[in-house]
Amino acid sequence: MAENSGIEWTTHTFNPWIGCTKISPACDHCYAEAWDARGLQGGATRWGPHASRTRTKTWGNPVKWNREAEGAASRPRVFCASLADVGDNHSSILPQWRDDLWALIRATPNLDWLLLTKRPQNLAKYLPGDWGNGYPNVWIGCTAENQAEYDRRKAHLVTIPAVVRFLSMEPLLGRVDLGDLSAIHWIITGGESGRAFRHADPDWFRFLRDQCAEAGVPFLFKQWEGANQKAIKALGRQLDGVIHDGYPLGIKA
Ligand code: SF4
Repeated sequence: MAENSGIEWTTHTFNPWIGCTKISPACDHCYAEAWDARGLQGGATRWGPHASRTRTKTWGNPVKWNREAEGAASRPRVFCASLADVGDNHSSILPQWRDDLWALIRATPNLDWLLLTKRPQNLAKYLPGDWGNGYPNVWIGCTAENQAEYDRRKAHLVTIPAVVRFLSMEPLLGRVDLGDLSAIHWIITGGESGRAFRHADPDWFRFLRDQCAEAGVPFLFKQWEGANQKAIKALGRQLDGVIHDGYPLGIKA
């Protein structure tokens, strides 16, 4: 997942647990795994099929954010999760953790929760019994970095009832034909960050922008590629002279 400080489209991040397994090209330079390895100073990380995930101690934060958001002019957005994948099916993730997460989401109606996964096929199985047409404060998204992952993951995403379905196409690693966007409410994209960033052709971003415009889907261009946040910020956020800060549900940036 991306570095928290660089995320334009969210106001808070919350991690119910930490750890994951790399499953696709977008995971190659996983920031979270590198962060975990640094913190453990050579110890075993929480990444990979044989590593246990650990539950965090920050579960009180969303409750506090929810209280602060009472009566506010705009609704805070909570990105869940930046150091894990909510669709991860690792055996160390106890069913109780997911039950607790759904309960926390129900208990924080002043927050919009953005559940972003690379495993929408799993998340579809983990929805709570009272999900119905989707909780009003939950947006469901999946990452798609190239055509193959887009086709595969979007097919699962569109089966999940949700007030907002979105795709985070970052790091964008190829040209993607979006096809039918009638069940998609938001597209985010951007280049890769980190020392080993892979180059994205600007035409790939333009193609996404134009398809979204054609379909009337809000489009957010988050960032150009770069070795670090300083370098990325220096490049600005314009694509052909325009900042694209589209959001679903008529929300203004
Ligand atoms: S899914 Fe996200 S957190 Fe998990 S390995 Fe891939 S990039 Fe890292």
